[in-house]
Amino acid sequence: MKSFQYVTATSPASARQLLGDNGRYLSGGIDLLGQMKEYLAEPKVLVNVKELPGLNKIESGDKVWTLGANVTISQLEDDAGIKKVFPGIQQAAAEVGSRQIRNVATVGGNLAQHSRCWYYRHRDVLCLKKGDDMCFARHGDNRYHSLFTGNTCISPVVSNLAIIFAVLDAVAIVQRGDKPLRMTLAELYAEAWRNPEAHNSLEPGDLILKIEVPIQKRRSSYLQMSAKSQFDWALVSCAAAANLDGDKLAQPSVALGAVGNVPYQVKAADELLEGKVLDDALANKAADVLLEKAHVQTDNGYKLPIARALIRRALMQLKA
Ligand SMILES: Cc1cc2nc3c(=O)[nH]c(=O)nc-3n(C[C@H](O)[C@H](O)[C@H](O)COP(=O)(O)OP(=O)(O)OC[C@H]3O[C@@H](n4cnc5c(N)ncnc54)[C@H](O)[C@@H]3O)c2cc1C
Repeated sequence: MKSFQYVTATSPASARQLLGDNGRYLSGGIDLLGQMKEYLAEPKVLVNVKELPGLNKIESGDKVWTLGANVTISQLEDDAGIKKVFPGIQQAAAEVGSRQIRNVATVGGNLAQHSRCWYYRHRDVLCLKKGDDMCFARHGDNRYHSLFTGNTCISPVVSNLAIIFAVLDAVAIVQRGDKPLRMTLAELYAEAWRNPEAHNSLEPGDLILKIEVPIQKRRSSYLQMSAKSQFDWALVSCAAAANLDGDKLAQPSVALGAVGNVPYQVKAADELLEGKVLDDALANKAADVLLEKAHVQTDNGYKLPIARALIRRALMQLKA
């Protein structure tokens, strides 16, 4: 590992100042330290943001819950209120990596984690995501890659929290310069759809402060399928959220993870579900709409039937 300076920020403003032009924010370090050990990232300064005041709390409210960026994934997994009000968040948190990882990894770091594409993660491979001109996954082993892409990079977003926050209409509060900015989850990842080098829409120096999750959707669920039961990312994940008006769905949303450069949502699928009584046939129709534009690569066609099953099961869990 290259040598670096280590400093602890005590306010968002000082964090930005300490970062300079070649620094990186450090939360749990699960992603960033791995990148540094592989020489993928060589920051001159690591700015520890874990001591920023007030960002390690889960705060309940009548209309909105606030999750600080430094809340750990274990905190989300263990919080009785989260489990009751946002079961999908609890399920998404419990599926992250392993308990050891969840004890350390944070909400902010989970959302801002970089691509897991094995070509990108190989120190000797210069790919499109690293600013070169070739996506090796397109012509190589793409079994873990995207079915939906907005550009020539086919590495998918693998943050569990991004997928569940997307269907719950959560908003990220991000410090940009001296102003806090509100970004929907779609906005937080839109740049990754457009630009092969982007992992998300954060600009250098942007600091995620907290996530606001409105409570209008009282039902939520998250499911994933991984190759291993622990220590692994999803091959495909699915989150769903809605209200139930009697037997009918209100404000439904479904999102897929690990299959696109962004949490993958299709407005027409949500519209199809609106006001309907959920059954297997309807869930299957929603899956048809969500998967309609899938573009299968040479090795990842197996993701399609998994996605279809997860969509159906995640939706049916809303009724449970
Ligand atoms: C074996 C293994 C399995 C895994 N499985 C899963 C899985 O199933 N699902 C899943 O979602 N994840 C999984 N992960 C990824 C893991 O959850 C993330 O690496 C972790 O959540 C990152 O959080 P962190 O706090 O450690 O971030 P760090 O490593 O400290 O930071 C990650 C990135 O975010 C930036 N950053 C950190 N905090 C902020 C902030 N507040 N504002 C802006 N930028 C910030 C950092 O500069 C860095 O670029 C797995 C990881 C491993 C090693």
